[in-house]
Amino acid sequence: MLVTGKEILSVAKKKGFAVPAFNAGSGQLLNAVIEACEEASSPVMIAIHPEELCFLTDSFVAQVKYAAEKATVPVCIHLDHGADFTQVIHAIQLGFTSVMIDASHCSYEENVKLSKKVVEAAHAVGVSVEAELGTIGDTGNTVEGGVSEIIYTDPKTAQAFIEETGIDSLAVAIGTAHGIYPKDIEPKLRLDILKDIAMLTDIPLVLHGGSSNPDEEISKAVSMGINKINISSDIKIVFAEKLREILNGENQEIREPNMLFPPCMEETKKIALEKIRLFKAEDKARYYTNKKEDDE
Ligand SMILES: [Zn+2]
Repeated sequence: MLVTGKEILSVAKKKGFAVPAFNAGSGQLLNAVIEACEEASSPVMIAIHPEELCFLTDSFVAQVKYAAEKATVPVCIHLDHGADFTQVIHAIQLGFTSVMIDASHCSYEENVKLSKKVVEAAHAVGVSVEAELGTIGDTGNTVEGGVSEIIYTDPKTAQAFIEETGIDSLAVAIGTAHGIYPKDIEPKLRLDILKDIAMLTDIPLVLHGGSSNPDEEISKAVSMGINKINISSDIKIVFAEKLREILNGENQEIREPNMLFPPCMEETKKIALEKIRLFKAEDKARYYTNKKEDDE
């Protein structure tokens, strides 16, 4: 079932869980995460970053759309970190049902201006918008990138930003970074900031770069108002590790994609299932199909 970002996240907010947003950087990752979500009966956002789209080409979106429509769980097609108006409009035309405009590196005024412009265009055709305030760190080696110094989202500014722009969800900077942390750095979430943001705002909040934060912190963040969590590195690392193992293994003749990739997809699936459970998204697809249960 293909749904918009607003539809998928409003239920998550109401029921107190986070929708996993997995970056589908390839058809294998796409199928693996959809399978995991169907198995766990979890709603899912398929996130595609502009750089991933550039590699996959536009025709890939037709594949995602087809998979979303056939899926037994709600699926939203989401543009991850749209950098400008053109990228966003291009994504909407391709059939994305949710777009992120990330002008977090600009001044507050510029961020408001661009996010508002995107909201006006996207809402006109029923597409949902996520924007970002504050900055998310960068550990290097990810398509998502980031900055070396994290600027935490200011709760009062977040409240004003939402009112001024009319966005549907907000990515907050509370101490996460894209990618996996170097071994000597211990990631720490500022849950005190999250608490204040959640108190002053009423739209779903999004966590980027939560790949190597401790499970306990992530779980707390979910109970405190995070309704979407982006997962990219975690599912790609296990896929690549398994592939490396196979390619370096005994059978040096192995070459068929249908022999090479299925064991890697299994590893991705395992991580996806772990995340779904951690985000409390398991068995939540029923809230999108059964109106009666929704009223409970
Ligand atoms: Zn991100």
